[in-house]
Amino acid sequence: MTTLNEWDKKHFIHPTSSIQEQQANGPKVIFDKGEGIYLTSKDGTRYIDAMSSLWNVNIGHGRKEIAEAAKDQMEQLAYSSCFSNFSNEPAIRLAKKIADLAPPSLNAVFFTSGGSESNDSAIKIVRHYWRIQGQPERNKIVALRRGYHGVSAGATSATGIPEFWDMAGSLMQGFIHAKSPYEIGTESSIQSIREVIEAEGPEKIAAFMAEPVQGAGGVLIPPKDYYKEVRKICNEYGILYIADEVITGFGRTGKMFGVENYGVEPDVLSFAKGVTSGYFPLGGVIVSDHVHNVLKEKSEGVLFHGFTYSGHPTGAAVALRNLEILERENLVDNSSKMGGELQKGFKSIKGESTIVGDIRTLGLLGAMEFVQDPLTNKRFPAELKVAPRIIAALHERGVICRAVTYDNTDIVCFSPPLIITKTQIDDLIAILREAVLSVQQEVEE
Ligand code: PLP
Repeated sequence: MTTLNEWDKKHFIHPTSSIQEQQANGPKVIFDKGEGIYLTSKDGTRYIDAMSSLWNVNIGHGRKEIAEAAKDQMEQLAYSSCFSNFSNEPAIRLAKKIADLAPPSLNAVFFTSGGSESNDSAIKIVRHYWRIQGQPERNKIVALRRGYHGVSAGATSATGIPEFWDMAGSLMQGFIHAKSPYEIGTESSIQSIREVIEAEGPEKIAAFMAEPVQGAGGVLIPPKDYYKEVRKICNEYGILYIADEVITGFGRTGKMFGVENYGVEPDVLSFAKGVTSGYFPLGGVIVSDHVHNVLKEKSEGVLFHGFTYSGHPTGAAVALRNLEILERENLVDNSSKMGGELQKGFKSIKGESTIVGDIRTLGLLGAMEFVQDPLTNKRFPAELKVAPRIIAALHERGVICRAVTYDNTDIVCFSPPLIITKTQIDDLIAILREAVLSVQQEVEE
């Protein structure tokens, strides 16, 4: 253990982590095993993985049949390229499967290795869509504040959380952020989108891009009619609508895709995470028949966009088996039902605590906000670090969760594996209650 700690500090630069904290304390936990909703560390401590790691291990950890699917495919054909119209059976079957699961008008899939690549691909595809129709100046992307779309050039530029811009140096041109419904309510957010489009000139806007539920922004769930209004605006100005379903896709919100909660169909939908439940790095973009037809009719020469691992046969075999499990075990339905249980648990804690503000769930995507005064929603001073304290209190008690503190908010997010049972939700809520009440006592002292 000491050796691993030292090697971690010396040789391992972690993603989205404090290097100073790592140098002072070493890695927080070295995980060794995963089973169901649980992760176990090298020193034998068991944790409830209440975030499905990074919102992605939808079918839970330790599924032997996924390992078998990967092994079988690796022995048959581990990898071959899909460039230059080469193909492979698992990738073809996966494209067909995803088209079947997606909203009816979305039927053609471009594969990537993860969410950021998916969003950069979506951005390039919509710009290409306009360019090949003789409108190259139509290249701007309108996104939402507090949205998170990843860390590659386009995805960081689309992200509406300024902390992520710091390292980018030079963000890409042509990204504008409207205010989110979380900040100013549905009507004003719709108005803000309209104003941004009018100010830039609708003929300069390629697409509007947003997550159905803003995940990393703090599980911010727009009201029911929000995306119908967004869709209306996009139609009115002839702008494409990209739904970033990297978190919300494949059952997370109690529906197969997040947009189904809002009764809308996007023109382009990006996905990753839950498509393989994290067992293989794979993502993609699904485009509507209309967009596909334009690409088919107007694209001349070679589509100069593709990743070495676009259509990876082993990744596709893993995704196929993952989706088979999702359907066989009715996990989308379980997400909806257990989401209801999570909501009940949150409510019961809110009833006993003086520091719980807004609580929200959509399927198994949930959040709890902490405020100084739940009646006025007055926030705690940032230096009290209430949400990070709750995360630490949960960690001590064997639960892994995630805090969001942008713009002086104190939000704790939940995204447990979709296999979670009622008993396990009860365990999680019991630990959460203890953690909340202990932090409440600390901050009220
Ligand atoms: N889009 C959303 C909504 C995400 O939550 C994430 C990652 O958390 C991404 C895109 C980026 O995905 P990746 O980290 O796989 O590049």
